[in-house]
Amino acid sequence: MQHKARKRFGQNFLQDTSVVSEILAHIQIKKVDHWVEIGAGMGALTAPLLDQAQTLDVVELDRDLVAFLQQKFADKQQLRIYSADALKFDFASLVNYSEQLRIIGNLPYNISTPLMFHLLTNVKHIQDMHFMLQKEVVERLCASAGSKKYGRLSVMMAYFCSAEFLFDVPPESFDPIPKVMSAIVCLTPHLKPPVSINDFSHFEQIVKHAFSQRRKTIRNSLSKLLTSEQILTVGINPSLRAENLSLDDFARLSNLG
Ligand code: SAH
Repeated sequence: MQHKARKRFGQNFLQDTSVVSEILAHIQIKKVDHWVEIGAGMGALTAPLLDQAQTLDVVELDRDLVAFLQQKFADKQQLRIYSADALKFDFASLVNYSEQLRIIGNLPYNISTPLMFHLLTNVKHIQDMHFMLQKEVVERLCASAGSKKYGRLSVMMAYFCSAEFLFDVPPESFDPIPKVMSAIVCLTPHLKPPVSINDFSHFEQIVKHAFSQRRKTIRNSLSKLLTSEQILTVGINPSLRAENLSLDDFARLSNLG
């Protein structure tokens, strides 16, 4: 089939089979796994997943590609294809009994952050997630306090998952060729949260405010939410900047008051 890549759906199809092999080597498919692929496109990852996995659900937004995939994989009993927007999809509905899902996708880069947070609303049903993302985003997901790339995304993700940078994928591996470098990340949900947070939306607020002006001290950036005295009571210097605070520091600040 001739398919003209649609920019609005973030379509960059993986062409390089050595990248596919490297992904397969990392993910270690087991027969019992229940896989979910987001944005299957023309099936670059779907086909090798189907060779090894017993259960595969695919969520694809582009109806032309859904029709293509249905035809291409018509004989594959273990595949279910959902014609849907992954941002609105109820991933918990795929879970049978107490199994956990293994999620994979070469994600449309324009929706990657909201999509990851949408998935995290069902984090207890997820064993792990492997994503192809813009390299910049992978670096931010994996950054620790003190590094330049460390920001709101790093802190929020650290609460839910451990993030591991797996490898780079150059632009020429795709058709059409994207403008940015890509990379593969593995996100593994924590069995239990690494810190305790009394009020999650307050924690989100604190992190958001602290990084909204990352050059400022937290005394200034958090002034609407906390006083310097309050910050001091949890043993944190109000002259620090957000980029110097760990997840644990943010948890303690958000549990104040
Ligand atoms: N996995 C394929 C395609 C990657 S391109 C490959 O590696 O070659 C990204 C894919 O995500 C496209 O197929 C696009 O149609 C699909 N997509 C874009 N937005 C989506 C959304 N909101 N929900 C589900 N799929 C989406």
